[in-house]
Amino acid sequence: MKQAVFRFAPSPNGKLHLGHAYSALLNEQMALASGGRLLLRIEDIDQQRCTPANITTAREDLRWLGIAFEEPVLQQSSRMTAYRDAISVLTDLKLLYVCNCTRKQLAASGSETMDPDHQPLYPGTCHANAHLFDRYSALRLNMAMAVQLARQVPEPLTWCEKDECVAADPRVWGDVILARKDIGTSYHLSVVVDDAFQGVTDIVRGEDLYHATAIHRLLQTILGFPEPRYHHHALITHASGRKLAKSESDRSLADMRRAGATPDDIRAMLGFKNQR
Ligand code: GLU
Repeated sequence: MKQAVFRFAPSPNGKLHLGHAYSALLNEQMALASGGRLLLRIEDIDQQRCTPANITTAREDLRWLGIAFEEPVLQQSSRMTAYRDAISVLTDLKLLYVCNCTRKQLAASGSETMDPDHQPLYPGTCHANAHLFDRYSALRLNMAMAVQLARQVPEPLTWCEKDECVAADPRVWGDVILARKDIGTSYHLSVVVDDAFQGVTDIVRGEDLYHATAIHRLLQTILGFPEPRYHHHALITHASGRKLAKSESDRSLADMRRAGATPDDIRAMLGFKNQR
């Protein structure tokens, strides 16, 4: 069997907290158990929020925790050409359209259907802009056309979640933005491009991204990328049964280590035995 490849992919738009440590340690545990590789990817497409200081602190936290990620570490800010190439493929397939709607306009449109993140579904205002290309605007995916195209692939759209097969219905997200106006890409696009680029076979991440997996599977199918296995874990702050005080779970790892916590304290607190 092919060697498994795991990755921890934080967006350092603030300081890392216990929830990040849990996800990173679970990736480490699963990679060790399966003899797999363990990668770190810094998801810093939003360079306004993912500042160099936040990135440095995040990398120090992870080094301090003692997790042995492979070098070199991939930073998404260095991958803009790859994202542009994927946007071009989707543009050539006529799956994207330009949208200049403001948040205010969208709020005023009164859409009552919500997406899985409880945001109003995009009402399709700019649908008629189909096939225009304009690098100064947001680009939305024509979801109906994308789903239709993916249906031409013989296998139904599903994903493998902890050995169970889950049906993926990306239509619940509506016409998602794949290229933000400010950065020319988006989380959904960058994550599938880079998981394929890095040969990731096992995606272990928080359950807040469970429903987004339907969009990722759709993009992977259309772009001809391999299908990874998924394992969405409970979010540490929501995990009932874990005796973490809220004040503890909200503190950053940097604060905790400054206050004298050791890496073994963090591992023990999160239910991991010392694996080093
Ligand atoms: N960068 C994302 C986050 O920090 C996680 C991406 C992923 O694991 O797919 O929420």
